[in-house]
Amino acid sequence: MGEQDPGGGKKTAKATKKAAVEDGPAKRVTAKQTSAKKTPAKKAVVKKAAALKKAVVAPKKAAAPVKKATPVKPVAVASPRSESHTALVRRARRINRELAEVYPYAHPELDFENSFQLVVATVLSAQTTDLRVNQTTPALFAKYPTPEDLAVADPEEVEEILRPTGFFRAKTKSVIGLSKALVENFGGEVPGRLEDLVKLPGVGRKTAFVVLGNAFGRPGITVDTHFQRLVRRWQWTTETEPDKIEAAIGALFPKSDWTMLSHHVIFHGRRICHARKPACGACPIAPLCPAYGEGETDPDKAAKLLKYEKGGFPGQRLKPPQAYLDAGGKPAPPLGAG
Ligand code: SF4
Repeated sequence: MGEQDPGGGKKTAKATKKAAVEDGPAKRVTAKQTSAKKTPAKKAVVKKAAALKKAVVAPKKAAAPVKKATPVKPVAVASPRSESHTALVRRARRINRELAEVYPYAHPELDFENSFQLVVATVLSAQTTDLRVNQTTPALFAKYPTPEDLAVADPEEVEEILRPTGFFRAKTKSVIGLSKALVENFGGEVPGRLEDLVKLPGVGRKTAFVVLGNAFGRPGITVDTHFQRLVRRWQWTTETEPDKIEAAIGALFPKSDWTMLSHHVIFHGRRICHARKPACGACPIAPLCPAYGEGETDPDKAAKLLKYEKGGFPGQRLKPPQAYLDAGGKPAPPLGAG
């Protein structure tokens, strides 16, 4: 985050920039890429990086997430303390490009067919999994397909449907309340402006950005629990409040990247970079990660920690996008089926 280390950090950062964070077209990190062309510089880079107070030497081994373990040669990652803003921007964008290759099918993991369904599903996703919401909303939207229907619903009947999502009484109030607000204030349409969305019951900035990004194509950063954890592990920011994280990360990327960046980061957090046991040994961006080693580094043990399609399991959506299915992803089972 700060300026370059005066005691040699410049050279290291320069070498690192070449070796690890070159801002060229996106390429998958592979053993070949990280070793073949950079061999003469590699030793010096690692040596210099070790001399830095908090230099991080990335993994001795890592693997692509689904494929069998592929060794990745060590690459020096500049100490974020000695990393210039330019170097941070390049490293952050490089990570995003790598993630785009790992998750070319990244998407919102809530099932929805229109903006009304998305805003309701996002409100319901508080304190539960997207899977549980996806298993619950088919019954809700079958009975109440429009804001007008849900606005006049019997709360007890809605509570019964929403029970599996937890906090079902509060959620019932929110979705009936927001439906009423949509009918009374917006002609039964979901508004496409942040300032209008956040006035709806149960809708905060996070929900609003999900809706803006995925139903209106307006760029937004979704700072959920995964996003917060990963950007801190990558030392993209030291901020801890969602609004400040959103601003700090927004400054590292062009606006047009914000929505897909959010999906990439959240996909990675759900599949590989878990809260308690990150699967570092199976992480394709390990060579770029200052937190490598926080989790399991043995490739075989790490591979067993992978979730959803990366672990060969069903995803969260009952109706995932075709790109997800084409990549070998499986739909989630309906409620009660698993
Ligand atoms: S902490 Fe581990 S799993 Fe997470 S991004 Fe870094 S290397 Fe990958």
